[in-house]
Amino acid sequence: MAFDDILGQHIPAQILLKGLRQNVIGSTYLFYGPESTGKKKTAFELAKALNCQSPNDSGSCGQCNFCKKIEQSVHPDVFLVEPVKSTPTAKEAFIKIEAIRDLQKKLSFLPYEGKTKVAIVDGAEAMNAQAANSFLKTLEEPPDSTVIILISANPYLLLPTILSRCQGIRFNPLPLSIVKQILLKNPETEAEELELRVSLSQGQVQKALESNIEETQVYRKDLIGMLNSISQDRIDVVFQWSKSWCKQSEKLFPLLDQLLHMLRDLALLRISPQIEHLHNRDIVSDLVPLAQKRSLRAYLNMYREVQETRQALSGNANAQLSLEMMLLNFCKSLS
Ligand SMILES: [Zn+2]
Repeated sequence: MAFDDILGQHIPAQILLKGLRQNVIGSTYLFYGPESTGKKKTAFELAKALNCQSPNDSGSCGQCNFCKKIEQSVHPDVFLVEPVKSTPTAKEAFIKIEAIRDLQKKLSFLPYEGKTKVAIVDGAEAMNAQAANSFLKTLEEPPDSTVIILISANPYLLLPTILSRCQGIRFNPLPLSIVKQILLKNPETEAEELELRVSLSQGQVQKALESNIEETQVYRKDLIGMLNSISQDRIDVVFQWSKSWCKQSEKLFPLLDQLLHMLRDLALLRISPQIEHLHNRDIVSDLVPLAQKRSLRAYLNMYREVQETRQALSGNANAQLSLEMMLLNFCKSLS
């Protein structure tokens, strides 16, 4: 295991390897970018490379006692803090001040057996205000021989004062060919689902694995029906569609996400017949005639409408009214 084994993240790997070779690794990093693209794996690889007994040009040896301990999360100088739910049924998980205080205490000692203490804070945006303010002090004056790595898929939720103290390293979505390569290593992936899972992944491995294929098929069929039939003369479609979906509130966000992917694909198809960048490559035969039906501007306006609706719904707006308004504005874009 070395940086070469982290697939699809060549640039972050090169930045860190250069820092290691020149002995200029920073004391606080922020690894940011979409979920499930290799950020945590890279953080652990950096911890290994910093503590490995025989590091090489591509990072750690992966074989020595320290590398193995870090891989098994039992190295006494490498700490991982993650968000925790207060009860098993709680919706959100947080990093509380107790966890940060515990980490600060561990960081106040010299390395126990390694060369560098490494603190990895995954889901750093889940620190509550108290925890973030307390952690700020550690970021301002990091202890000696310590590297702190914050990981976040939503860095805009972090305090600006925290952001300003970290060296940011951006992780991009993985190329779909890499997602496919990773899925092929997973023996549980069904061959016929592979292409669909890859195209639904948005470059995130977890998304590819978790996608509910059957549900996705239902959403897409329904959305294609709606997009084909909606018009100024068919306002009945607006009310029927909104009424049926607003009752299934837990499905609204995945449905709207599918709608965003589809509108993006339709807009792309208006510009170019190439299909390799589409999310829904497997149903391109349904999408091509639909793409020709409306203008590029109409699809772009509809995309914006869905984004605004999604935002309103996350602020607890009324579902039926929001969906109706979205579709009525769709009709306006088509006129
Ligand atoms: Zn090693």
